[in-house]
Amino acid sequence: MNYLVSGQEVPVKILKAILRSGRIAHAYLLKGPAGSGKAALAREFAKGLLCLNQSRADDSFGTGDGIKLACNVCESCTRVDNHTHPDLLMIEKEGTSIRISASHSMIKEVLTRPFVSKRKVFIIDDAEALTAEAANALLKLLEEPPAHVNFILTTSNESAIPATVISRCQVIPLRALPAEAIAGYLHQIHNVPIELSREIAALSDGSVHKALWLLSQGDQEGVDGPALAGRIVGSSPVELAQEYSKADSQDRHRILVALELEFAQKLAKAAMEYNYGEHGAYGEHERPDAGGADALKTNFQALKAIMRARQRLGANANPFLVFCTLFMDIQRFITEEI
Ligand SMILES: [Zn+2]
Repeated sequence: MNYLVSGQEVPVKILKAILRSGRIAHAYLLKGPAGSGKAALAREFAKGLLCLNQSRADDSFGTGDGIKLACNVCESCTRVDNHTHPDLLMIEKEGTSIRISASHSMIKEVLTRPFVSKRKVFIIDDAEALTAEAANALLKLLEEPPAHVNFILTTSNESAIPATVISRCQVIPLRALPAEAIAGYLHQIHNVPIELSREIAALSDGSVHKALWLLSQGDQEGVDGPALAGRIVGSSPVELAQEYSKADSQDRHRILVALELEFAQKLAKAAMEYNYGEHGAYGEHERPDAGGADALKTNFQALKAIMRARQRLGANANPFLVFCTLFMDIQRFITEEI
């Protein structure tokens, strides 16, 4: 089960009811904001359509997490998970658009029988990227669809898809993901500390794409977390704050994310060393010394100070004062530790 599908319980329930009823339309359009998990859900739905145990679909798929759309154990499901299913075809963008050549290969595929499952499923991600020519070719297929073929389109911009195409699709709306689902995703799939996951999720407007972008900002060369942390120790907080408060609000946010990642990593390392010793395991008479506890405290305090700074910036406090306080705090924590 793709983790992202949690947070989309309503459309998942609809798709599950469709699978269970056995009344499958030829084409579905999953529409929702960017980063709401459409591509992941399209894949799960395709898995359900192709699943060899789907005829036995009943509540047994639903026990446990309650949102399984397929058995997840048959050959078909395994192949979908391994990206080796010959009857699941992904139609993707070349550059910024889905060209007619994609439609040509689609037409060719439609003419052959499925290999593993009873049907063939085409996923067309970002269907708004279909060129007019490609959309026309698709329309021809949707007008007289072969019985064994299903299309799953996804889009975050329904208005850019020809109405003639949409009218032949059953439309399934997705909403922006709840922050908690995004936080869980960052924490479980990307190993981001849970506090930081929640903070990023709160800023992500329900979009996983945006959350991952925010996360990546911490690693970008524009803001070098370790270097910045080093500068805070060795520089005047006032001068540094003057420099950083000139950044625009997005860059100010990047600075905080970079610092937060840096101190979260330091905290994780300090916790490991405190619990297991510098070399992995304590000898019989070795025990953590006071320094280990200090390192934990320093990094934890720094993280809390960064969170306060973010809240203050979010409340439109003066950026210079926010940064100045933050840098002075961090400097003080580190000096006290030494
Ligand atoms: Zn299956």
